[in-house]
Amino acid sequence: LLDALSDQTALAVERVHLVEDVDRARLAAETDRLRTALLTSISHDLRTPLASILGSAGTLKDYSELLAEEDKRELASTIQEEAERLNRFIANLLDMTRLESGAVRPNLAPNDLGEIVGSALKRAGKILAQHRVEVDLAPDLPLLALDPVLFEQVLFNLLDNAAKYAPAGTVIRLQGERDGAVVTLQVLDEGPGIPAGELELVFDKFHRAEKGDQVRAGTGLGLGICRGFVEAMGGAITAGNRADRSGAVFTIRLPVPAGTIP
Ligand code: ADP
Repeated sequence: LLDALSDQTALAVERVHLVEDVDRARLAAETDRLRTALLTSISHDLRTPLASILGSAGTLKDYSELLAEEDKRELASTIQEEAERLNRFIANLLDMTRLESGAVRPNLAPNDLGEIVGSALKRAGKILAQHRVEVDLAPDLPLLALDPVLFEQVLFNLLDNAAKYAPAGTVIRLQGERDGAVVTLQVLDEGPGIPAGELELVFDKFHRAEKGDQVRAGTGLGLGICRGFVEAMGGAITAGNRADRSGAVFTIRLPVPAGTIP
């Protein structure tokens, strides 16, 4: 009986090993596929602006005598805009790498939300030029334990998206209030909103919602960085759609530090 049992055990162990080998092979293939997809996506995001820069620079150089001043300025603007886009993409890639390797260590100190909102708005000034921005922060918000550099980046990414996805001339609203031990900050826009099935996915690395958004300049990294940074500061961020009209709403919840007067 013992012999039979040990034979059976040996067989079972062999089977487990076989299954493990198959699983491992499958995992390796999936990792390979993801790595290739990632490289393809990154190469595309680097090449598109580069092609535009090279094209504009070439035209400027080769046809300089034939071009009107206005055309030259336009080509120079294209070069500048596309270089800025490359710059943002590389900064995003670095932020994402820092997050994934655990190198983001927030410098938490009591900060005034209004001040960080102010500096994010200032930095996004040019991007928001086509929109109307309304800020409505409750007057008695407590100081929050935030890293101002990281939090400004979060707000900048959300404002950048709102400006990118909501039509020019519409209102982008920033709303902050306290509810007991939590401060809620929302960014609301009047764009198309986000398909219900994508609300969680939009925070995934390189995920870009369907609906023709592919034509908009973007990297699919901004919201992943937002979530990483907010969570590193002890908060949470979710995406939703407005109930009152079409538009996306991003909600950040931040804990009120213990000992703060209620
Ligand atoms: P990017 O904007 O560079 O593509 P993000 O990570 O910032 O990357 O956003 C991921 C996706 O979420 C976008 O491609 C877009 O489909 C969707 N999205 C983000 N913000 C908004 C918004 N305010 N309105 C509608 N869709 C949005």
